[in-house]
Amino acid sequence: MSVETQKETLGFQTEVKQLLHLMIHSLYSNKEIFLRELISNASDAADKLRFEALAKPELLEGGAELKIRLSFDKDAKTVTLEDNGIGMSREEVIAHLGTIAKSGTADFMKNLTGDQKKDSHLIGQFGVGFYSAFIVADKVDVFTRRAGSPASEGVHWSSKGEGDFEVATIDKVERGTRIVLHLKSGEEEFADGWRLRNVVKKYSDHIALPIELPKDPISSQEHGEEADKPAEQEWETVNRASALWTRGRTEVKDEEYQEFYKHVAHDFENPLSWSHNKVEGKLEYTSLLYVPGRAPFDLYQREAPKGLKLYVQRVFIMDQADEFLPLYLRFIKGVVDSNDLSLNVSREILQKDPVIDAMKSALTKRVLDMLEKLAKNEPEQYKQFWKAFGQVLKEGPAEDFANKEKIAGLLRFASTQGDDGEQSVGLADYIGRMKEGQDKVYFLTGETFAQIKNSPHLEVFRKKGIEVLLLTDRIDEWLMSYLTEFDGKHFVDVARGDLDLGKLDSEEDKKAQEEVAKAKEGLLERLKGALGEQVAEVRVSHRLTDSPAILAIGEQDLGLQMRQILEASGQKVPDAKPIFEINPQHPLIEKLDAEADEDRFADLSHILFDQAALAAGDSLKDPAAYVQRLNKLLVELSA
Ligand code: ADP
Repeated sequence: MSVETQKETLGFQTEVKQLLHLMIHSLYSNKEIFLRELISNASDAADKLRFEALAKPELLEGGAELKIRLSFDKDAKTVTLEDNGIGMSREEVIAHLGTIAKSGTADFMKNLTGDQKKDSHLIGQFGVGFYSAFIVADKVDVFTRRAGSPASEGVHWSSKGEGDFEVATIDKVERGTRIVLHLKSGEEEFADGWRLRNVVKKYSDHIALPIELPKDPISSQEHGEEADKPAEQEWETVNRASALWTRGRTEVKDEEYQEFYKHVAHDFENPLSWSHNKVEGKLEYTSLLYVPGRAPFDLYQREAPKGLKLYVQRVFIMDQADEFLPLYLRFIKGVVDSNDLSLNVSREILQKDPVIDAMKSALTKRVLDMLEKLAKNEPEQYKQFWKAFGQVLKEGPAEDFANKEKIAGLLRFASTQGDDGEQSVGLADYIGRMKEGQDKVYFLTGETFAQIKNSPHLEVFRKKGIEVLLLTDRIDEWLMSYLTEFDGKHFVDVARGDLDLGKLDSEEDKKAQEEVAKAKEGLLERLKGALGEQVAEVRVSHRLTDSPAILAIGEQDLGLQMRQILEASGQKVPDAKPIFEINPQHPLIEKLDAEADEDRFADLSHILFDQAALAAGDSLKDPAAYVQRLNKLLVELSA
């Protein structure tokens, strides 16, 4: 054992302690994945070294053959994983193996319930990484040295995975990282060549670096500091050791695609779909894009990782290259490997390079095609996709004008056809079942499905058997300001403007409406007088069958949802006056028309107006006045 200096004991960040606890308790049924996680890190470390060595070849220190070695010691009950990648400095060890850098982690941890079943579900959204070593080990030693640092700046990190860890400076001759797992009692099965080999084949076959195991799997000795060095160990590569995306599509099995996904996405579960393409011609690149099965916990965090892993001619260049896909597809994971970009490409160059624009539009189309296929061929899986990422996809029409129609086709909505509010209706479905004479797509926005499914705005549609999309996501009204048509059919907000049902109303209907409007001119004038400044206009409605009155939004005015969003963000919203529409057939309106007492007429008008606001999901400006008026009427009734 070499001499240890500058030894100190440090506490784990609270979130690490929580993660450790959660992991150990929720992953015991899947414990072999620790090896996948550690190998994944070792492979990333090799990628990083290769990248940094492009500019500083001396980092390779003569040893350019990057690899991972896995060994074990049955007697000592240890498993050792060694890489000759980038390694870590003392500061890096403390930062990376003592804290979690992901933003939003503390909030995520607050969601833990203590119920192991529920929590084990959550860990999948988080990813486990290095700390998964503690699923099988009750002590972990890490020996590491950063490439380019002198041998005297090696670091030894050691922890039992409880509250703290130790770091010390050591001598380490070989560049890179060696991790020694001291297996818990009961986990000795991993100190076995066959077991390790199987786990590597199962989860890490796709790793592009060679993963070597001792040739004789029975009598391995680890070559740790103190182990007696066995006479020249012979090593054997057990994985395929070629970059998966460079292979032909037909050569790669589904399981391999799935395991590779877990490596690039740091996810835990299988993806829903993937698309692997080699492009030749003017541009040459290979892309492998995945649709994850569920949203990561930090999907809506501004700094959450997004983008693809960028390689240039098989050399890793950077993680989170977010120039290759638009923001509304930020949930897509994967790899892009370009033959056109230069090896010393930087983020700044990426932002300006026209090659990137061309790739971005091609990759965007690939993703949209992949989603279309998923929707068509795997409706259940598409449902799952929609639940996880539908809200993000809804940002698409505003961001990506060129693909608006394609994105619109992927959207799913609740409608009056269903009673559970599930977002399952596509625009093509809707158009497919439009009524004869219908040439518009009708929709209504609101706060919740329960609140709008019985809205008076739907009365005439129900009567005529016309489907209406019911949009209740916060983003919907905003979305609909960008979506004006699909497949040549215009969208119409049924709560907005002067509802014209076009051919859905017969000539007789229209004539009758006009006559009624004429006949009620006097009443409309009186109402206008009574309601005064509160309304923009009073008119006879074509929307109602059962309710006495309704409020419509002016054609150009902000709807309720947008108003609430803007108000919540502290912006001043211009006061928009609604249009008050009445149903002349309703007995209350008939009564109102016959009311000779102007005071009572005014009270009743205000009550009808306030009720219409309530039915639209709005709150009353003066609720006490409403209650007073209503009570006055009730008293008169019972007198
Ligand atoms: P993640 O890989 O998701 O970032 P981990 O907890 O697995 O999270 O690892 C944390 C960090 O520790 C890595 O991002 C990397 O910087 C560093 N690290 C882990 N293993 C190695 C290794 N074998 N060589 C160099 N750095 C490593």
